[in-house]
Amino acid sequence: MSSSPPAAPAAPHEPAQPIQPALPASARIRQRLQAARCRHHANDNIAAFVHEGELEELKAEVQAKAQELLHALVIDTEGDHNTHGTAERLARMYIDEVFRGRYQPMPAVTEFPNAERLNELMIVGPITVRSACSHHLCPIMGRVWVGLLPNEHSNLIGLSKYARICDWVMSRPQIQEEAVMMLANELQQRVRPDGLAIVMEADHFCMHWRGVKDDETAMVNSVMRGAFLKDANLRREFLSLLSRKGRA
Ligand SMILES: [Zn+2]
Repeated sequence: MSSSPPAAPAAPHEPAQPIQPALPASARIRQRLQAARCRHHANDNIAAFVHEGELEELKAEVQAKAQELLHALVIDTEGDHNTHGTAERLARMYIDEVFRGRYQPMPAVTEFPNAERLNELMIVGPITVRSACSHHLCPIMGRVWVGLLPNEHSNLIGLSKYARICDWVMSRPQIQEEAVMMLANELQQRVRPDGLAIVMEADHFCMHWRGVKDDETAMVNSVMRGAFLKDANLRREFLSLLSRKGRA
């Protein structure tokens, strides 16, 4: 008579779980944004929703999609050594460079109390603008001038910080009208001046490279707040100083 081998101890019962493929980083970040009901248009900063290491994952994802784009354009990226690394270069350029203002937090800016109680018109600029249009992702290259009328309660920030904040706002796909408003909001919050004026003058390469192919077109936008809105003399003074500072 043969005895059956002792039964193996029963494994603890585990409910059958369908194996979920891991969500790509873009989907995880989007889920967090949607859960927080946070707008994530092209010109919004989403750094607070990106966890450590996810930018590298995003880059790999963008690279794979860019490769599909080149494929759809019937470009032989295997045979054409010039385009062999283009998908990877595009991914790095978008995430690390030209659109980094979406993915990186606001640069640290130290604010100083207005100890000298400065209350005279201050002009910062021209600050170089490098951006891209939201419609075609074509470059926008231009200049920005900032006019400030501080009061005794204003916080002052170092001159170079205006350029850093401007760069952070502009390094996103933008619409010029919205870009100047966003920059004004960031500066208003930090400096709290009595008056704030911003003028942006820029070349939109989607007008040069495609479309009407007009090489003379530059777009000028301005935002005037507080004292610059109420006081025509102050506004005139600001604009006349700009033309002396080399604005066409
Ligand atoms: Zn465009």
